[in-house]
Amino acid sequence: MISIEERYEKLEQKVKGYLPTVDVSRLREVFEYAAKQHEDQLRKDGSPFVSHPLAVADLVTDLGLDLESVMAALLHDCIEDTSSTYEEVAHKFGATVADLVDGVTKLTRVQYTSKEEEQMENLRKMLMAMAKDIRVILIKICDRMHNIRTMEYQSERKQREKSLETLEIYAPIAHRLGMQRMKWELEDLSLKYLDPIAYHEIADELAKQAQLQETFMSSIQRSIQTRLAEEHIRGTVYGRIKHIYSIYRKMYIQNKNLSEIFDLYAFRVIVDDIPSCYNVLGVIHDLYKPILGRFKDYIGTPKPNLYQSLHTTVIGSEGMPFEVQIRTWDMHHTAEYGVAAHWKYKQGLNLSKNASEEVFAWVRRLLETQQDTDAEEYVRTLKVDLFADEVFVFTPQGDVINLPAGATPIDFAYTIHSAVGNGMVAAKVNGRIVNFDYRLNSGQIVEVVTAKNARGPSRDWIKLAKSNEARTKIRQWFKREKREENIAHGRSMFESELKHLAIPMALVIGEEILPHVLKKVRFGSLDEMYAAIGYGGASAQKCANRVKEELVYLNRIQAEKATAEKVAAEPAPVKVQVESGVANTGNRKRSASGVIVEDMTDCMVKFAKCCTPVPGDEIVGFVTRGYGVSVHRSDCPNAAISRRKPEEKDRWVFVSWDQGSQNTYKTALELTAKDRDGLTLDVAMILSSAKLRLLSLAANSLPDGYAKISAVLEVKNSADVRTVMNKLNQISGVYQVTRVSG
Ligand code: MN
Repeated sequence: MISIEERYEKLEQKVKGYLPTVDVSRLREVFEYAAKQHEDQLRKDGSPFVSHPLAVADLVTDLGLDLESVMAALLHDCIEDTSSTYEEVAHKFGATVADLVDGVTKLTRVQYTSKEEEQMENLRKMLMAMAKDIRVILIKICDRMHNIRTMEYQSERKQREKSLETLEIYAPIAHRLGMQRMKWELEDLSLKYLDPIAYHEIADELAKQAQLQETFMSSIQRSIQTRLAEEHIRGTVYGRIKHIYSIYRKMYIQNKNLSEIFDLYAFRVIVDDIPSCYNVLGVIHDLYKPILGRFKDYIGTPKPNLYQSLHTTVIGSEGMPFEVQIRTWDMHHTAEYGVAAHWKYKQGLNLSKNASEEVFAWVRRLLETQQDTDAEEYVRTLKVDLFADEVFVFTPQGDVINLPAGATPIDFAYTIHSAVGNGMVAAKVNGRIVNFDYRLNSGQIVEVVTAKNARGPSRDWIKLAKSNEARTKIRQWFKREKREENIAHGRSMFESELKHLAIPMALVIGEEILPHVLKKVRFGSLDEMYAAIGYGGASAQKCANRVKEELVYLNRIQAEKATAEKVAAEPAPVKVQVESGVANTGNRKRSASGVIVEDMTDCMVKFAKCCTPVPGDEIVGFVTRGYGVSVHRSDCPNAAISRRKPEEKDRWVFVSWDQGSQNTYKTALELTAKDRDGLTLDVAMILSSAKLRLLSLAANSLPDGYAKISAVLEVKNSADVRTVMNKLNQISGVYQVTRVSG
């Protein structure tokens, strides 16, 4: 068996062969470094691990790639599998080699998924991320080629996985890059593991017919060659049988057996120039009967991967159909090696910077061309779209993150998770700290440093972020965070008001007290009240006053209860004072309530909570049991004639407003509007500009995008109410303002 050292020397000779001017001592250094790094590692077949990078480097020299690519191939598993770091490789062998190794490492980390859509997406991302240095992909394809060639020692599961990945990702990439040779071998080897029965069936059948095929092919080859000589066309004729995977696909997809496969045989005529191609086509069509509709001119219209040839299918003397491909040598090299042909055949021995840029331009052009029209040859249409407005970067774990062009670490962080964005304190690109306005480039590894006590986004992040997703998340943070600010602000305002009233906070938040207090202030929670105070929707002073009122009220109830208990044996009517007190005004039947009750003096009056009548409203009274006269608006459903019980007929009494009264009255309004930011604030502003005392304001979002706002105010009369209702109606988005009734 050939030793590792001998294999290295063969490699060095090969490199010297096509790169005679380069200094191969650098290659030796790289080899020795790689051998040392992989020293303790063995491959599954028991051979030293370094035999793998050696084999990959050998494949890279087959493609005629430059010295840096060969060096990178030798080092390609060092960062991933040994203690080597990017920095060390860069220090020892230069940044270019390190970048190539780094690129291959990133590609290795791209997660393979069996979901078809994601595969396509991965494929696209791999291509795009690496488009800036195509050598990375070429090395990676060589890596995969060697791995799949030596896969027999792997577990069956691994074999299937790798084969599938090769078939779904690497073979299409090889095709995209125009590397037909590589593509065929990758496909055949994958098939061998994915469908071994079919693979061997086809291979055995082909072997059985080998003699026959040989005879057939050489006779065709001879006739063409002879005829070319007669026509004075310089050309070389090759014959081959199509690769197993393409036969397999035709058999299984078109449900045909081997003998029914149309173009099992392919002949190639390679000539010096394009006019000769068309001359050869004439010759072939003269020699054999062409099959209609099978001629394709890929010289006039090259394939997206820049493949050029004339294709025609003809019927041979024995009735056997076969395909003939006619091309120039230039086209041939491109067809065999694709993008790599630029190193191998076109750039010669001095690959200048310009030349490599030309290659990258070639790749970009290739990626820009999307439509692969040859559906026969490619079952799956690969759409590798080039979006100039996108960048593809990696997480440290190797996941590809797709961002808009010009994206910053802020976009990256919020794409990962809003918590990552909100907690970001620093960002690293390829291991180095960058500013938040750093513009990310495809292929970079981005890392976000977060901290629990991070201050959160700053307002200018919205300007720095390129993606809508990030901007929305930052805005959400501010909205939420602002609420917290509002709560904190409102709380301190409320607490200082309470202090002013000499009410200890502890009293308010007592378990038994708090629900009553909240009911009184009409907020669902203290935070809601604080937030409202904070943004100005409620007054801290008013809230504190109402809390005081409630505490006084609760105190009195408590006291009365205690008294009632004392005289429990002899229950006396409990007097509960309601909002509007009773006043004996003597001869003018004037009532402190501002309401005159017909035929009654000194009677207790209260205003029904359901409809909150105010002067100017038509009203009606109801004599309650023990609570005086309850005054309703005439249009209140609770006072509707139809709802009056016959036995209570006499309880309904005429009441009227005392015109001279200077009292104010509570009334409740309800407003329905399209929900939006600042709606409640607008309502509060209108109410305060109307110089009406606002007793409570509560906003509720409705599930259908609307909001309901309830306001309780103090007014003098119905004219006040009408005025304020008109003003509220003018608020943008408001579609209904009603007085609460019933
Ligand atoms: Mn490898």
